Amino acid sequence: MLVPEIKILAVGPVDQNILDYLALTISGSFNATCQSVNLKVDPQDAYHPTRRQYNSTQLLSKLLELHPTDGNKMLGVTELDLFIPILTFVFGEAQLGGRVALISTHRLHPQFYGLPENEKLFYSRCEKEAKHELGHTSGLVHCRSYECVMHVSNSVEQVDLKQSSFCPTCTGLLQGMG
Ligand SMILES: [Zn+2]
Ligand SMILES: [Zn+2]
Repeated sequence: MLVPEIKILAVGPVDQNILDYLALTISGSFNATCQSVNLKVDPQDAYHPTRRQYNSTQLLSKLLELHPTDGNKMLGVTELDLFIPILTFVFGEAQLGGRVALISTHRLHPQFYGLPENEKLFYSRCEKEAKHELGHTSGLVHCRSYECVMHVSNSVEQVDLKQSSFCPTCTGLLQGMG
């Protein structure tokens, strides 16, 4: 089987340690080579001054512009707070069955909720959301299993409830799609 490549890039300033961590953990789950790349995306056009957030779909299009049409995938990681017009915020967005995915770490920090910093918890949340959005790029839709990483998360509590792995059904689908 051809091993796909997943490129990870920072959208705006992002701690390199989290990018390196995601590269490690994602490569295992997706049987892909995964590396962080140094490409620049200027998020400023996607800024919405009234909401003081960034339009997730616009940033996703910017990633798509960067990305060569070689069948590989790209994950953008940002500290910026993301929204889509119908929702207060989103943890991330992806092209279903496509090539690009984006996650925001903004609301994954315990500090966002007035709680003490907890690096282990923060990393685990980032891992879940990254796998979730990349799962969408591999064609997976939301899973009913509460433990599955493809279960929908509208709050950080829901992120914490699920595991960082794909359930047997989603794993089977992923392998079938590979
Ligand atoms: Zn989703
Ligand atoms: Zn599942």
